[in-house]
Amino acid sequence: MKKRRVVILGATGSIGQSAAKVAHDIPDRMEIVGMSGNRNLAKLGELSARFPHAALCTTCPRTAVPADLDPLVRHRGEEGLIELATLPGADLVLIAIVGTGGLKPALAAIEAGKDIAVASKEILVMAGEAVMEAARRKGVKVLPVDSEHNAIFQCLEGRESSEVRRLILTASGGPFRKLPAEQLAHVTREQALRHPTWNMGEKITIDSATLFNKGLEMIEARWLFDVEMGRVDVVVHPQSIVHSMVEFVDGSVLAQLSHSDMCFPIQYAVTWPERVPNSLRPLDFAELSRLDFEAPRHADFPALGLAREAGERGGTLPAVLNAANEVAVAAFLEGRIPFPCIWETVAHVMHRHAPVAEPGLDDILRADCEARAAAEGFVSTPQ
Ligand code: NDP
Repeated sequence: MKKRRVVILGATGSIGQSAAKVAHDIPDRMEIVGMSGNRNLAKLGELSARFPHAALCTTCPRTAVPADLDPLVRHRGEEGLIELATLPGADLVLIAIVGTGGLKPALAAIEAGKDIAVASKEILVMAGEAVMEAARRKGVKVLPVDSEHNAIFQCLEGRESSEVRRLILTASGGPFRKLPAEQLAHVTREQALRHPTWNMGEKITIDSATLFNKGLEMIEARWLFDVEMGRVDVVVHPQSIVHSMVEFVDGSVLAQLSHSDMCFPIQYAVTWPERVPNSLRPLDFAELSRLDFEAPRHADFPALGLAREAGERGGTLPAVLNAANEVAVAAFLEGRIPFPCIWETVAHVMHRHAPVAEPGLDDILRADCEARAAAEGFVSTPQ
């Protein structure tokens, strides 16, 4: 049984804290050897007290490091993040930074021969082809942490893409699953942040409400499992117990189920290909009593259609969708735009972009930058 020496990029966030719980739960299998925080340095201090041997990195240049933590911080800024991602002795890097800030460290970790566990779906949406190609070239593993992709990974167990008819991602439907379309224009930040089944960071919670989270996951699945977009489907499952399914060419469907707790997929990414006991709450089927499934409301929630279009047209378009969405979500959280304007911003920016086919990293970063500027322009202009 191998003990994984794990670096957590984004340790102070929701995923990072779940990863700390997993390390505490299975200490024979997981040791945290590095952690980064951006602005929540009080949390980084707490984590450092629990895992005193872990190297620390702080990334936000504008956030003062508390005096008691300062001498312990050996890595700083973007460069520090790369140092942490390539830390000698670490063998798995968990990318849990919200947004695209984890892309360069992820590529650096791969180049240094380390396996990566990816929670930050944005980096696979933006540069899935580059990340998967680099991992193939270096012979390292990309382990999915997103619960849906972790579920598919478990159902596939190394099966060939040619044996798969459909990957079926489940979506909770978010807090507005049943809200009449005309009321979507009036939803507040607080309502959008009240996710019915998952407790997560702010960005992904808003993405769950717009269904962009599921859209990003469709593109993420396309790259992780090497299937074209036409074979990636979404079904709404409000209980969030079935985390996703694979339909094989012979018509059999395999699903993975558990309570909605990110400790499950994080642990599987760490102990893969083995399974080990833990203290997580098992399912009680009698208590669950029912599992519901329904079609998504494509017309009222345009995110899925936009993501399918971006994934099918490919090139730099997924990076543009992702960047425009990040800007629009931030503007909604700041109270600058109404909820439906998140979709409008993404559609506006995507449809004015001329995608570059087979893009290199520079093309992707340029498209990301231009899309952010275009989205900022759109959200700042009164409609
Ligand atoms: P949080 O907002 O809770 O945490 C984000 C982490 O990233 C924090 O550690 C934060 O530091 C750090 N961070 C923020 N901005 C930067 C930056 N510019 N540079 C470096 N570090 C930064 O997010 P979540 O944990 O919810 O999500 C993390 C990623 O995992 C996202 O991509 C999300 O889509 C994905 N994910 C999350 C799930 C969940 O259940 N939460 C489920 C599946 C995927 P600090 O807090 O110190 O400022």
